[in-house]
Amino acid sequence: MERENKTYDLIIIGGGITGAGVLRAASKKGLKTLLLEKNDFASGTSSKSGKLVHGGLRYLQHLQFKIVRESLIERNWLLEAYPHLVKPIEFVFPLYGLKFKYKIAMFLYQIMGKHKNLPKYKFFNKKETIQKYSKINSEGLKGGFSYYDGITNDARLVNEIIFEATQNQEAEAKNYIKVTSITDNKKRCVIKCKDTITNEEYTLYGKVIVNCTGPWSDKTLEKYKPQPKKTMEPSKGVHLVFSKERLPLSSAFAFVSGANDGCLFYALPWENNTVILGPTDTTFSGDYDNLKENENEIQYLLKGLNQFSPNSNFTKKDILYIFVGLRPLFNEDGESKDKTRDFKIWWSSNDIVSISGGKLTTFRAMGKVLIEKVISKKQLTCISVLPLKDPDISIELPKHIKNNYSLLSQGKIEKIILENSVNIEPLVPELKVIKAEIIFAIKELKAKTVEDIMLRRFSFDYGLQQKNYYSKLKVIITDILLYNTNKQ
Ligand SMILES: Cc1cc2nc3c(=O)[nH]c(=O)nc-3n(C[C@H](O)[C@H](O)[C@H](O)COP(=O)(O)OP(=O)(O)OC[C@H]3O[C@@H](n4cnc5c(N)ncnc54)[C@H](O)[C@@H]3O)c2cc1C
Repeated sequence: MERENKTYDLIIIGGGITGAGVLRAASKKGLKTLLLEKNDFASGTSSKSGKLVHGGLRYLQHLQFKIVRESLIERNWLLEAYPHLVKPIEFVFPLYGLKFKYKIAMFLYQIMGKHKNLPKYKFFNKKETIQKYSKINSEGLKGGFSYYDGITNDARLVNEIIFEATQNQEAEAKNYIKVTSITDNKKRCVIKCKDTITNEEYTLYGKVIVNCTGPWSDKTLEKYKPQPKKTMEPSKGVHLVFSKERLPLSSAFAFVSGANDGCLFYALPWENNTVILGPTDTTFSGDYDNLKENENEIQYLLKGLNQFSPNSNFTKKDILYIFVGLRPLFNEDGESKDKTRDFKIWWSSNDIVSISGGKLTTFRAMGKVLIEKVISKKQLTCISVLPLKDPDISIELPKHIKNNYSLLSQGKIEKIILENSVNIEPLVPELKVIKAEIIFAIKELKAKTVEDIMLRRFSFDYGLQQKNYYSKLKVIITDILLYNTNKQ
C-alpha cells in the first residue's frame, strides 16, 4: 500500500460481510475503493453467525414482513449465484402445541420466498417427526413440519465476495490495517491507519468514508469526534459445536429453548461432521475484542439441547468448539431478541457515512442501497465495468474443488497446480484438501496467519481439533505459509 497521497473515491472501514457487500457494489460501479480491516477479513461477527442464509421465520411472529420478504429474495439469489457456498438445507420444527399459527407462517414464508429448486414445506404426524430424529423428546409431541432454507460458510462467503470484488483493478482490500483516526477537512477525508503486523503507519485520503464496522460502529466514529449518543447496542450470541456422531442429525432442527423465554434454537449439521447449536441472545457491554462465553450461556444451551433430546445427557465434555459473536443491533427499547434486524444508514458529516445492522443474508441489498445513496449525494463518477469472464479450465480438477469453488477460483487453483504438479496432492491422507488450495488462500484470499487459514479460509478448527492429524495439518500449513510469504 502506498504510504501517502492516494485519494480514493471510497474508503471502507471493516472487512466483515457488510464491508464486503459495499466493496462489491462499489466495484461494480467502477469506483476507486479501498477496504481496510484491522484483523483478518470476517474475523468479527461475520464468522460467528448461525451460518443461515434465510428469511428468518421467527421475524414473522414480530410481523416484520418487509425484512422477511427482502431476506428471502437475497436467499434465493445467493442459492443461485453461489451454489458452491450456499446450499439448501431442510429444517424440521417439532410441534408440542397447536399447529395453526405455524400453518399460516409456513404459507406466508412459502409465498414470500418461492424458489424453483427448494422443496415445499410439509407437515408431519408424530411418528414421521420421530423418524427424523429418533431421540427427540416425544412427550407431548404432536407432530412437526419441515421447510427449506440456505446454509453457508460465513467466513468463506466474506472472503469470496472480497476476492471477487477486487478482481476489478479499482477495488482493493487490505487486512490487518487498523484505522486509528478520521478527519474530514471538507475537501476530502484523511484516514490514519496502522499495519497491525508490521506497525507501519499510513495516511490515506477518501472522498467518502464508509463505516462498516458492525458492533464497533460507535467506536469507529469516536475516532472522528465524540459521539453524542450511542447508536449501537450489540447483543452477544454463543454457539456450541458437537460431533455428528454424538448428535446424529441429518436435517437441521429448530426448537424452542428450554427456558421458556420465547427464544428459538437451531441445531445444524455442518462441515467436518459437526452439528452447530445456538444461539444465545443477551445484551453485551464488555470488551468487543475479547469475547468469551460464560458458564450460564453454556448451561442454557445444554439445557435446551437436553430437553430436545432428553435421553442423550449432553454435558460440557461433548462440546468440540465454541464461537461467540456480537449482533450489530441498535440502541432501541426492548429485549435484543425482539429488536429489528433491519439495517440503518446514517451520516456523521457530509463525507462520513455508516451502515450497520441487517444480516449476513442481506449484504448485497445493503451494499447496493448504500452505494446508490453515496453516488447521488457526492455526485461520484461511475465507469462501466465488464462482468468477469469465466476461465477455461484445461485440467481435471478434484471433485471437491469443482463443488466448493467458483469458476474464477478454480481457474486460479488450476494455475497453481500447473506451476507445480505437487500442489494437487492432499495435505494429509485423511482430508481431501490439496496444497494448491492453501496457496490460493495465501495468494488470492490474503490469509496472513495460520489461524486465518485454519479457521476462516477453511473450517478445520470446527471439529478437527480433536483428530490425531490436526497438529500435523497445522505444521504443514505453517510451512506452506512461511514459504509463500517469504516468496511474495
Ligand atoms: C450469534 C449470531 C448469529 C447470527 N446468525 C445469522 C444467520 O444465521 N444468518 C444471517 O443472515 N445473519 C446472522 N447473524 C447476523 C450477521 O452475522 C451480522 O449481521 C453480520 O455478520 C454483521 O456483519 P458486519 O460486517 O456488519 O460486522 P462484522 O462482521 O463484525 O465486521 C466489522 C469489522 O470491522 C472491523 N473493524 C472494527 N474496527 C475497525 C477499525 N478501527 N479499523 C479497521 N477495521 C475495523 C472488525 O474487525 C470487523 O471485522 C448472526 C449474528 C450473530 C451474532
